Amino acid sequence: MMIPSTVNESRSAHSDVLVVGGGPAGLATALMLAKRGWTRIIVLEQRRSAAEYEPDKSFNYLIDGRGQKLTDLLGLTDAVSQIGVPNTEFRITRIQPNGKRKTSKLPLLDPRRKTAYWLPRRALVHLLYETIEQQWKDHITVCFNARCVSMEREQNTQRLEVFVQQGDEIERLQPFFLIGCDGIQSIVRQTLRQWDTERFEIQQFPSPSSRLRYKVLSLPPRFPLDAHTQDQAVATMAYAIRSKWRERGRSLSLGLLPLKDDTAPRTANIVTYPDHQIWDLKTGEQLLDFLAQAFPQLPIRQIIPIEEADRFAKSQGGAFPVPQFCSGLTYLLKQQDSISAGVLLLGDAIHCFPPDIGQGVNSALEDVFVLNEVLCQCQDDLAQALPQYETIRANDVGAVVRLAQIAAPWQYNQNRLRGRLWLVQFLLRLGISRLFPAISPPAFFLLQNHQLSYEEIWNREQRGSLRLKILSLMVMGGLLVGSLVAGLRS
Ligand SMILES: Cc1cc2nc3c(=O)[nH]c(=O)nc-3n(C[C@H](O)[C@H](O)[C@H](O)COP(=O)(O)OP(=O)(O)OC[C@H]3O[C@@H](n4cnc5c(N)ncnc54)[C@H](O)[C@@H]3O)c2cc1C
Repeated sequence: MMIPSTVNESRSAHSDVLVVGGGPAGLATALMLAKRGWTRIIVLEQRRSAAEYEPDKSFNYLIDGRGQKLTDLLGLTDAVSQIGVPNTEFRITRIQPNGKRKTSKLPLLDPRRKTAYWLPRRALVHLLYETIEQQWKDHITVCFNARCVSMEREQNTQRLEVFVQQGDEIERLQPFFLIGCDGIQSIVRQTLRQWDTERFEIQQFPSPSSRLRYKVLSLPPRFPLDAHTQDQAVATMAYAIRSKWRERGRSLSLGLLPLKDDTAPRTANIVTYPDHQIWDLKTGEQLLDFLAQAFPQLPIRQIIPIEEADRFAKSQGGAFPVPQFCSGLTYLLKQQDSISAGVLLLGDAIHCFPPDIGQGVNSALEDVFVLNEVLCQCQDDLAQALPQYETIRANDVGAVVRLAQIAAPWQYNQNRLRGRLWLVQFLLRLGISRLFPAISPPAFFLLQNHQLSYEEIWNREQRGSLRLKILSLMVMGGLLVGSLVAGLRS
């Protein structure tokens, strides 16, 4: 698709939007703006097509009440529920190295919350793209194979100039409203950093899960669960399959999340330390040998075709990011008293963290929801709306990153002892919070409540931890005094 021009003398106040990045945040933002009446919206996406399969990004999202605030607004929650698996049905089968299987239905952490839905990233992106194609083609043009390569401020007019590469061609666009939804390596944010270093500098908050490496292995739908029976994997069931090795460097887990479509490939996430042996395997044959030894409970060679094993071995995979954010979310270009363009950042471009708390996509969708509310209050006047968006959202952005740092970082079998200690402290804190309501439940539990902002959750977590420390000191002090008095009496 050719990129339509945004250099237009007859531009109106609510048109000429350029969204960089056609991931969940970018497509959702385009839909939200079109619904508000904005026109001439272009979405640039560097992938070649909507259907391009990205094996190492084929993870499953849980769209919870927070993400559903936006899908409700866009009228898409019903569609999400139809293509997703509800968390109320979440069942997991653990398969031990000796083949023993145990299925359990995990209790909902907080049954009062809205039903959340598991669905693959590609299904969510496809739903958003199809909605644009079917309902908003007059307002939104999605350009694939189109990569934003740089942006500049035009000296005289202070207009924004964005350079886009499509094939061998470089196009120059002059949007009135530029929205950076281009993920962790955001070129929009990097340019803003050159213009205003302090506000757009990334701040990092390392966590025990950051820098773990991951790759995603594609398994056939309904793959066999063992070599001897006819038992096959069930699409809507989650699986946790443990290797026979337990030592660091060899221990491995295959994690499969529920899927509605029982004809689509299953994806098994492999997440482990950067120095794990699996990352050194160079060929599909080496990988199949390794997996067959690690998982004697599975007929590995029946399940994984050599082509997929080769692809996996050659793929770079990825590494979980260090939780990070930048405090600047918007930028206004002004000429005399009026603005000549506005820039805004959303989603992973401003806050990014490992998937421990399942909030990556939900926080991105909430960014879009908040933007809609602010545009509503400011009657779509960017000069007012952008600063207001930053004031309202910046604290939540910082808070969700701090929550990602502490809420559930030991869930990848990195260290069995630390994982168990985390679970014990989680359950203890949950129990204590029931006895002493002044002490809030653990952060991971509070995150299920989409009516609380991330900032409120972070503040409750901090206050709760402080009160817990004071309570522990009082209990220890009481015990000490009690034993001293008992000693004096005897
Ligand atoms: C391994 C892993 C597992 C995850 N699991 C979960 C999970 O279980 N639950 C959850 O909620 N979140 C999860 N996340 C996080 C989640 O995927 C992100 O938070 C979410 O995708 C953010 O959406 P986004 O649209 O802001 O960015 P992205 O999804 O990164 O989309 C950015 C888009 O911009 C395009 N782009 C980038 N640069 C340019 C450019 N210069 N020009 C044109 N296009 C460009 C990219 O191709 C991409 O399509 C996970 C992340 C990882 C890495």
